[in-house]
Amino acid sequence: MAKVRALFNPNMVEAILRLHPSHTGAADHWLWEHEKSGSFSIKSAYSFFKTILESEHGESSNGAVMKKFWTALWKLQVPHKVKVFAWRACKDCLPTKANLIKRKLDIEGKCCFCQHPLEDLRHVLILCPSTYGFLRSRFAVLQISSFLTTAMDILFKGNFKDLSDFFLMVWAFWFRRNKMVHEQIALPPQQVIGFAFTKKLHSVVVRQQLGNHISKNMVYIWSPPPEDSLKLNIDGALFLFKQSWYGHGFEEPYG
Ligand SMILES: [Zn+2]
Repeated sequence: MAKVRALFNPNMVEAILRLHPSHTGAADHWLWEHEKSGSFSIKSAYSFFKTILESEHGESSNGAVMKKFWTALWKLQVPHKVKVFAWRACKDCLPTKANLIKRKLDIEGKCCFCQHPLEDLRHVLILCPSTYGFLRSRFAVLQISSFLTTAMDILFKGNFKDLSDFFLMVWAFWFRRNKMVHEQIALPPQQVIGFAFTKKLHSVVVRQQLGNHISKNMVYIWSPPPEDSLKLNIDGALFLFKQSWYGHGFEEPYG
């Protein structure tokens, strides 16, 4: 179990640990979920990727509108991880409890904040009473038939900043949800929202500074280590929750 926790992120660990080993003793084997037989085929792979491309690049019936939306999403002035999160949310491929249950995981589906019977995407990011008021205070009218239509409505009835603020807020809600589900840490919504907007501010300021060449000294230029030595690259960030994350990697000369 420690090995699983060391290798995968908390959502993946949760999914893996809830798998039931086969009682029949059958050997493990690969299954391709886009064919009924479970066998991989070029045709089904082509069809799968074509569907994704059509929905993003506007070859479907409402293609032009969708294309405009996806283009706007990737151009937003928010940290890249928020854009990736927003894209996954719009595709409903976040590991909400509803989605994990759809994948046959034996878990309790209740919202961990309000005990709503099913934590699906729309509930956890928009409708949960524990955070809904914060969205309403920023967006007077919310079209809530689905998460994607909500986001599209905010963009097309508002502007890029509205959509940025929306994604930052719901990213904060998802962060708070994960803290609760995986670490049993209850964070106040105000705190996570403040955290998200601080990150956005930091991102915009750094981009402006680099773009305007105000401080060239801010730019770190990587150089290879001397031969017969290793270089430890460290990148760090300190956030409001008194936690810090860092990444590092060893690199060989000219590697
Ligand atoms: Zn809830």
